[in-house]
Amino acid sequence: MPKSVVDFLYGYLLFASDNLKHPKVRFLLTPIKFGENSVRYPEVEIKILGEKSRYKGKLGFTARESWACFDSDGKLHCKKGEFPFDDVIKCLVAVFEKDDPFTEYGKVTGNCNFCRKTLSVPESLYLGYGKICAKRFGLKWGGTNN
Ligand SMILES: [Zn+2]
Repeated sequence: MPKSVVDFLYGYLLFASDNLKHPKVRFLLTPIKFGENSVRYPEVEIKILGEKSRYKGKLGFTARESWACFDSDGKLHCKKGEFPFDDVIKCLVAVFEKDDPFTEYGKVTGNCNFCRKTLSVPESLYLGYGKICAKRFGLKWGGTNN
């Protein structure tokens, strides 16, 4: 995993861990097509592994029923199942080149990137996350910099 991506993820997750017990972020991987009009968006969920994990403090990634854990320098520590490294790395590198890497997930799914609650306010739908989560993760919402 590129060190820049790992640093970025740690930055947001550590910031949010002041207000949240188990902060997580999510990103959409390459969509899978079923037939003509049906598309599924597999996702990757990322968190800093907590007290109960034997890999405490490392970055845990869950994607497509598999799991991988990375050190803070980006080196793979361990994995379970067929973790889609290429897809996840490609997705994360692309996402972090955007102005707001957390927007896409909520826009596509209609759920907040961070807490998964359904987004209902236009501003939240536009940003891809709700007001409370924006504050927790130190992001802009409603024209104010939380
Ligand atoms: Zn939320």
